[in-house]
Amino acid sequence: MDNYEQQLNKYADLLIKVGVKLQPGQVLYLESPIEVPEFTRIVVRKAYEAGAKFVQVVWVDETISRIRFESAPDDSFTYYPQWTASTMEQLCESGGALLSLLADDPDLMNGIDAGKISAAAKAASVARQKFRSYIRSNKISWCLANVPTRAWANKVFAELADAERVQALWDVLFKINRIDHEDPVASWKEHIQSLQHLSGILNEKRYKKLHYKGPGTDLTVALAQEHVWIGGGGWNQDGVYFVANMPTEEVFTMPHRSGTNGYVTSTMPLNYNGGLIDGFTLTFRDGQVVDFTANVGYESLKELLETDEGAKYLGEVALVPQDSPISNLNRIFYDTGLDENASCHLAIGSAYPFNVQNGTKLSKEELEARGANTSMTHVDFMIGSAQLDIDGERQDGTVEPLFRQGNWVIVTS
Ligand code: ZN
Ligand code: ZN
Repeated sequence: MDNYEQQLNKYADLLIKVGVKLQPGQVLYLESPIEVPEFTRIVVRKAYEAGAKFVQVVWVDETISRIRFESAPDDSFTYYPQWTASTMEQLCESGGALLSLLADDPDLMNGIDAGKISAAAKAASVARQKFRSYIRSNKISWCLANVPTRAWANKVFAELADAERVQALWDVLFKINRIDHEDPVASWKEHIQSLQHLSGILNEKRYKKLHYKGPGTDLTVALAQEHVWIGGGGWNQDGVYFVANMPTEEVFTMPHRSGTNGYVTSTMPLNYNGGLIDGFTLTFRDGQVVDFTANVGYESLKELLETDEGAKYLGEVALVPQDSPISNLNRIFYDTGLDENASCHLAIGSAYPFNVQNGTKLSKEELEARGANTSMTHVDFMIGSAQLDIDGERQDGTVEPLFRQGNWVIVTS
């Protein structure tokens, strides 16, 4: 086995053992780009070696997604096949695991009408509501990870020669997933412990509010009552600890739905439904977005905010220092899963129930009473920079510095 092959094997092993933490006898549902068959086969082999009962591979072809938007009649975009949603519900109800290998071409939907894209996204959201509630409450182990495709590598490594781009993206993915370490599974254990430790410190602080200040940003975010900071992974309903995002560098919690005031400006482009939204500012009053501007993708942002009532409110507050493995690469990936782990971010839309105490056992009404936002959408957007300062306000009104110039002030180790 050459070095590249060894790394592919280590990466596949990590996704199965740490990502979804596959248990003997489990069914694995594996989504993967059609362009990456070799790696997908390695993942399948690792899954069976870990005791999988059955591995269902679903190939994703972005070109086919685009063909639909170019050629299908208008009523196609309000349709979503119910059987697809039912499959996912059954997967969750029967205790399967879900691994999605992602590689989104940021330019995929260039020139496609934003209305069509948002209609299709909405139809999918409505049909997949039950499935999403299972995922949001960690009913099963699920994991999102990245693999390179040509289109995505072309965007991220445009400065390199054609033939080098895909490999360069593999190398970066190996690095930020600690595949270059002697024993990546052990390194991840350590990494998760440090994120858990950090969450523990923040949970003891019990901040009432966070105050963000930076260029184009002056924002106060009240946190939900009984909020819980989480970092690393989480437990599924069978008590198995899995890691939903690989890589992950964030600690995050739940904002109170009606407690955000002021304005915030994005610091990275946002790849939303195959189109870019960039240089945007949101203004909040009592939690709600009351005004917004965007240098690029204004219409897409408008569609996003109009998805439903909850799409005008925040559902996640996440802290990531500038001095972290992904940030230090100084590269924009045009992929939320990666970019969000390089930058402090917020999410528009639904909150995660596990971000309040006993949240996964609460009803929708009980969650809302604790300040949780509900929406069909959940979209992270990046606000971190080396100019961002954040203060935390304690329950007794004391204000203390949390971030200065994009990095932690409190002792984090
Ligand atoms: Zn996040
Ligand atoms: Zn998020």
